[in-house]
Amino acid sequence: MTTITHLINGEQIAGTSGRFAEARNPATGELICKVPLATPAELDAAVEKAALAQKSWGAVNPQRRARVMMKFGALINDHMDELAEILSKEHGKTIPDAKGDIQRGLEVVEVCMGVPALTKGEFTGDAGTGIDLYSIRQPLGVVAGITPFNFPAMIPLWKMAPAIACGNAMILKPSERTPNTSMRLAELFKEAGLPDGVLQVVHGDKECVDAILDNDTIQAVGFVGSTPIAQYIYGRAATNGKRAQCFGGAKNHMVIMPDADLDKAADALIGAGYGAAGERCMAISVAVPVGQETADKLIEKLVPKIEKLKVAPYTGGDDVDFGPVITQASKERIEALIASGVKQGAKLVTDGRNLSIQGYEEGYFVGPSLFDNVTPDMDIYKEEIFGPVLSFVRKDSYEDALELVNNNEYGNGTAIYTADGDVARDFVAKVEIGMVGVNFPIPVPLSYYSFGGWKKSGFGDLDQYGPDAFKFYTKTKKVSSRWFSGIKDGVALNFKSID
Ligand code: NAD
Repeated sequence: MTTITHLINGEQIAGTSGRFAEARNPATGELICKVPLATPAELDAAVEKAALAQKSWGAVNPQRRARVMMKFGALINDHMDELAEILSKEHGKTIPDAKGDIQRGLEVVEVCMGVPALTKGEFTGDAGTGIDLYSIRQPLGVVAGITPFNFPAMIPLWKMAPAIACGNAMILKPSERTPNTSMRLAELFKEAGLPDGVLQVVHGDKECVDAILDNDTIQAVGFVGSTPIAQYIYGRAATNGKRAQCFGGAKNHMVIMPDADLDKAADALIGAGYGAAGERCMAISVAVPVGQETADKLIEKLVPKIEKLKVAPYTGGDDVDFGPVITQASKERIEALIASGVKQGAKLVTDGRNLSIQGYEEGYFVGPSLFDNVTPDMDIYKEEIFGPVLSFVRKDSYEDALELVNNNEYGNGTAIYTADGDVARDFVAKVEIGMVGVNFPIPVPLSYYSFGGWKKSGFGDLDQYGPDAFKFYTKTKKVSSRWFSGIKDGVALNFKSID
């Protein structure tokens, strides 16, 4: 067991608060490291140094910044196995899933290699006599990223790569439950040539986050985590005049039409419902089969697949399907929600509670649970469970299924399985959700699109990575320029268009 440090100005700096969080291996319950929780003074000092570093970094031309991104991307690739091991140990997901987590972050780094083209301004020559109009995109200065535990590589990379490529300095506050992946990524960024101070990793809890929100030098905050915290951070950051984009929790539905390929739909539900122990903001947690026969057939196909799933530590072999959930508290919360589902009248088809794995009795394992006959008033429907629990809400018509999805307070992702193009098109047009899959269970946009949910899944205007990130992390200066050759002298008092 070690005590990790902050990473300030390229150096490992011990925390001074005397307060620590604990990061544990969820498969064994063993303490991996103590995580220092920064004081506001520590945070402010890191920001001050970041502001100094940003002055030089912001002046580095975009082509050179792109070269640092290229080296960073190459180093992530070279260190894929090592990063996946760090990630799986602190998060619990399988090694192939950890590699997917890193890969999807790496793809954002790859898009950032195009930062010179992606941050070009606009130009209109000869908008009037001797007049040129143009816009330039400039970095904001120091920005902050606050990230959740569930994608320890991908989401910190969503934040740090575009922010830094655009010429900003970043304060990254990773989840205190999975901090080691971020620390290693930051070391690789330094090795790629990123000047010290441009990326500061500061660990902390609410005290540190509040200091971020109240620090006047920090110009923008990008947050990903649960909805109540997203809403809180959005409100406080905006009140303090910061640009903010805060992404929250989810309850993602998959509608399965009677004409869908039910074998493919069942496979998709297994992957999207139980992969990563359901700890994905794009996990499918609600299946909405249309018609009783569709529901019955799907359950029949799902049960044997669920019974075959291997829940085990990431070290348990190539055939492990998913690992533990993140903490003992999380396991207890999920199991309590399953109990509430039974109590409130849902039919528990498979029960993942009380799973004990030989040799890993202290691990936070929860097996796959499947509920049928769930109704929207039940807690298992209303709450984001964030565990391996799939709920069936049966509906008799497509219209009723669509209404259910649209009435949900979350709006992150959704999917429809159907063979009918007209129904699919109608769903895409009418569903009130930010990311939609057609015969595609987890429609996370690729890195050259942007990612973001609606309603209580996302607060703020712009989405993450892709084109929106380059807007979020730059401010646009609009310039009107005139040179006087051939223009007569004169005074103009009226507000008018250009001649
Ligand atoms: P969380 O909200 O507990 O923590 C997220 C971050 O906020 C962490 O860095 C944490 O230290 C900090 N934090 C926690 N409590 C705080 C407080 N009271 N004040 C200020 N900061 C605080 O989320 P989590 O458990 O780490 O992650 C899981 C959640 O994240 C789920 O709800 C999931 O749906 C969501 N998520 C959303 C997306 C998305 O893009 N919409 C992506 C991944 C995860």
